[in-house]
Amino acid sequence: MKIIVNTSACVGHARCQHVAPELFTLDDNGYIATTSFDVPPGQEALAQRAVRACPEGALRGVDGLVPRSRLR
Ligand code: SF4
Repeated sequence: MKIIVNTSACVGHARCQHVAPELFTLDDNGYIATTSFDVPPGQEALAQRAVRACPEGALRGVDGLVPRSRLR
């Protein structure tokens, strides 16, 4: 599973990190600090909870490989 982040939609609620601090890293201003990352095996349910917790819909969980064109 991969998490894709729409960084332009992130407004720094930090709910993703509150739900899954080991998966979601924020920058010094409280915005998510990555555009995508692979979820470690066994952490998928936690990652999905964090995706659902984002009120801006800035996070998306994708199974399998992601075409490069969709990583923007
Ligand atoms: S919960 Fe959503 S808006 Fe808030 S920091 Fe995480 S990705 Fe950004």
